Amino acid sequence: MTKHDNLIGADWISFGNYQDNINPSDVSDVIGAYSYGDNESVNAAVEAAKAALPAWRDATPQARHDVLDAVGNTIAARKDEIGRLLSREEGKTLAEGIGETMRAAQVFKFFAGEALRQSGDLQASVRPDIDIEVTREPVGIVGLITPWNFPIAIPAWKIAPALAYGNCVVLKPADLTPGCAHVIAGILNECGCPAGVFNLVMGRGSVVGEALISHPDIAAISFTGSVATGQHIAETCGRLRKKVQLEMGGKNPMVVLDDADLSVAVPACINGTFFSTGQRCTASSRLIVEAGIHDAFVDEMTRAMKALNVGNALDQATQIGPVVDARQLNSNLEYVEIARGEADEVIGGERLELADNGFYQAPALFVGTRNDMRINREEIFGPCGSIIKVADFDEAVAVANDTDFGLSAGICTQSLKHARAFKRKAEAGMVMVNLPTAGVDYHVPFGGRKGSSFGAREQGRYAVEFYTTVKTSYVYAG
Ligand code: NAD
Repeated sequence: MTKHDNLIGADWISFGNYQDNINPSDVSDVIGAYSYGDNESVNAAVEAAKAALPAWRDATPQARHDVLDAVGNTIAARKDEIGRLLSREEGKTLAEGIGETMRAAQVFKFFAGEALRQSGDLQASVRPDIDIEVTREPVGIVGLITPWNFPIAIPAWKIAPALAYGNCVVLKPADLTPGCAHVIAGILNECGCPAGVFNLVMGRGSVVGEALISHPDIAAISFTGSVATGQHIAETCGRLRKKVQLEMGGKNPMVVLDDADLSVAVPACINGTFFSTGQRCTASSRLIVEAGIHDAFVDEMTRAMKALNVGNALDQATQIGPVVDARQLNSNLEYVEIARGEADEVIGGERLELADNGFYQAPALFVGTRNDMRINREEIFGPCGSIIKVADFDEAVAVANDTDFGLSAGICTQSLKHARAFKRKAEAGMVMVNLPTAGVDYHVPFGGRKGSSFGAREQGRYAVEFYTTVKTSYVYAG
């Protein structure tokens, strides 16, 4: 079996231990053995980054642009192969896998442009004959920690701005899906990224992740993952005075008002709730439906949900791939059991035994639920949606906002008045009108409020806030 090592400097280095990367659509398909690093691997990566930092920090914008642009072009040229690997290791459909790969390519190309667009401020002093310049400088060595559900897009949207603004990187991808990160590392290495500017260390969160967040030479940590891990990372980084950025869970509401066009609302809710097997932090897990349209909406949703084709991610006909692993599947099935005790009715949600030996689950709708139930408070992270009936728009907004999370919030309505009011009142970082709560552009800020996010926004021009630090220089010209 092919062994995949860590990238330290410009070299692929083995630290002895490996773990199999298993295809959740068919557990007999082992994608490869991926290195399981330890403290030593993190120390080696940080040393390589330290050695590379002075030259990369001072590299011209053109040099940084050229590396990122070449990486973007290479990912795009290899989108079918990388997208297939992504679907094999994570279980999202081939169309979603290729789509995510293209998004990663676009992110690199966007930040190639941003490398050329760095600017500062020239400000007047309150004192005579003094000029003030406000400029941005790289933060230093940045540790990036990513989850399994977007194995190429999330590493890309952290690596690209980190490098564009002159930082060196140590990436620790999720141990369930290291394959795409390993491919990106190879592409960076081949596209002229100088040795040590980008380093890959794979392995367990409790070992490699922990070593990264507590390493004294790492200046900043950008993390995407669960609330519990994020909380721990924030506490550690706070204690060690590291800059930190967290993107965590969601319990995203999608409001459907009486005047919604069902031909828009139902596809938006099907996509937001079930696509990518519900394994998106922006998934619509609470469908908040006004009383007048409730029964028609439930009928249409049930019909559309039952028509979804669950199967092997690599099969062209599949719309919903498997759950990522046995642990996540068991957790989803436990929530279906909880829903049986809480909701008036549970439609679907059962484990599916298909021809391929994978972690398949039928999509589930929980009908007749209240917002205070566990199924509506806790993130399930599976193909499950709850329906909460409300009397009117005001109650819909109150229920939508009554959550510990605040990532994305959606509304389906034909009323400009209600759409406008919802955009202003939703306590979320992103608002969607007549669109799924999931599915965002790559060139604008991404992130949320409350328990969903902490620190500066990711993506688009806003990424500069996290990956740079500001310097104010005063000059007296005499
Ligand atoms: P997770 O928190 O278990 O793991 C995320 C990463 O953190 C992994 O690389 C893991 O190895 C690492 N990690 C674990 N323990 C660590 C420690 N002690 N120190 C340092 N690193 C550690 O999350 P997951 O199960 O991989 O991902 C699913 C979660 O991610 C869901 O809650 C989902 O909502 C969230 N998510 C959020 C966004 C967003 O942008 N808001 C996007 C995708 C996923």
